[in-house]
Amino acid sequence: MQTQLFIGGRFVPAANGETLASLNPHDNSVIAEVAMAGPADVDRAVAAAKAAFPKWSNLAAMERGRLLLKLADAIEANADALARLESLDTGHPIRDTRNLDVPRTAATFRYFGGMADKFEGSVIPVEQGFLNYMTREPVGIVGQVVPWNFPLMFTSWKMAPALAAGNCVIMKPAELTPLSSLAIAELMAEVGFPEGVVNILPGLGHVAGQYIAEHPEISKVAFTGSTAIGRKIVQASSGNLKKVQLELGGKGANIVFGDANIDAVVQGSAFAIFHNQGQACIAGSRMIVHESIADEVLEKFAALSRTIRIGNPLDPLTEMGPLTSRQHRDRVLSFVDVAREQGGRVLAGGKAPDDAALANGCYVEPTIVQAKPEHRVSQEEVFGPFMTVTTFRTDEEALAIANGTEYGLGAGLWTRDLQRAHLVAREIRAGMVWINCYKRVSPASPFGGVGASGYGREMGFEAMREYTQPKSVWVNVDAQIPPYYPR
Ligand code: NAP
Ligand code: MG
Repeated sequence: MQTQLFIGGRFVPAANGETLASLNPHDNSVIAEVAMAGPADVDRAVAAAKAAFPKWSNLAAMERGRLLLKLADAIEANADALARLESLDTGHPIRDTRNLDVPRTAATFRYFGGMADKFEGSVIPVEQGFLNYMTREPVGIVGQVVPWNFPLMFTSWKMAPALAAGNCVIMKPAELTPLSSLAIAELMAEVGFPEGVVNILPGLGHVAGQYIAEHPEISKVAFTGSTAIGRKIVQASSGNLKKVQLELGGKGANIVFGDANIDAVVQGSAFAIFHNQGQACIAGSRMIVHESIADEVLEKFAALSRTIRIGNPLDPLTEMGPLTSRQHRDRVLSFVDVAREQGGRVLAGGKAPDDAALANGCYVEPTIVQAKPEHRVSQEEVFGPFMTVTTFRTDEEALAIANGTEYGLGAGLWTRDLQRAHLVAREIRAGMVWINCYKRVSPASPFGGVGASGYGREMGFEAMREYTQPKSVWVNVDAQIPPYYPR
């Protein structure tokens, strides 16, 4: 297991020698002591990235792609070990890390490996006599600050398009979950990424993260995390007017119309809010259900939630693991009190499981709370296995509730009425909409939000646009230069 900073192609201790323990949230035991980057280490990484940039950005795109494809293969060859490491560090059930996180990480590196030499510039039809073409240049040195909810997957979401486009990367993983990104760094060194192209700096957000956002020689910062820190990133970036990309929180609406397939709703909604213990920005955390079917939906949904197997993430039968930290578990449970204080009714869960074997871990039962749309639990991101439920009468009312938060990331709706599905999809204020499904993602499909959920898009061609700048070149092929100052 790698526990040191990855700078200039080598694993090195932090300049100030500091380390931070990474814990297993199943029992809060220490997995590893991990080096913690300070400003001097960020400077070292920037110097390494600067030295690597000219050659990397001028390398044939096909060659950059080839390295990303080799990395995808290496991730697949090490899938079991990576899944285990991710489960240990984050608490995600091994059945998810092995079947979702690791394959999706490989798929994202592979998609952008294939993309590298297919992202083209253009020729623009300007007036006769001139050739005008546009190329796409890499932005330069890119800082990437990521959270603890999908640390392995986010290495690929953030790094793959940046590298395909020819940028050099300085990534700060979350202090809670640094291990899988260091494992990826090790594989990158193995498959032959040139030194300095990627630098991974575990460290504290307000120290290393803040300095990355401020750094005068970093040209862009891409951030995933809370809306509050997103605002700080924007402020810190203003010194050198960095390009900023923000993927922030969400409060995903999950609208269930009266004509929906109820069994599909129950299964899909459980995935929407309980997968990864609800620690997903795109979690479907607000069920908005038509009053005509609310009783049946809620009865079946609560019954399913009570059968979810909670336990040690390394047990292949476990369906829900612990939250990723004790502090976060306490925060999620505090929302149960917030709900009750405002008159919300707990329909399921609302506490830590009684199982003594889980007493030292960060566990929370799948929780369903009936609440009004204006209640705090219906407005604020809880980021846990915590579903609020509210009922509606008319489609207009459902839309108003769905659009009634500051967020606008993902949203879903369930109906058999084709026209209503597309109409509502058009009217929902969100970057992503799922019809009769929830939380589908693909490396090929744009991912991101509006409003307090941030700006910019990951994945697909959109991500390549985010990580490049257009350059317009004018060539006089046979135009007469008109006399501007006739003599
Ligand atoms: P966070 O504080 O926004 O942290 C995200 C990343 O930003 C971490 O790497 C963090 O470092 C770093 N960071 C913190 N302060 C920074 C600063 N001043 N400058 C630059 N980087 C900084 O999120 P969190 O504390 O992990 O979670 C809090 C809440 O955010 C959650 O409850 C949830 O509502 C939301 N969240 C959303 C997402 C998402 O996918 N959109 C993901 C995670 C959390 P440290 O690791 O040292 O804190
Ligand atoms: Mg951990």
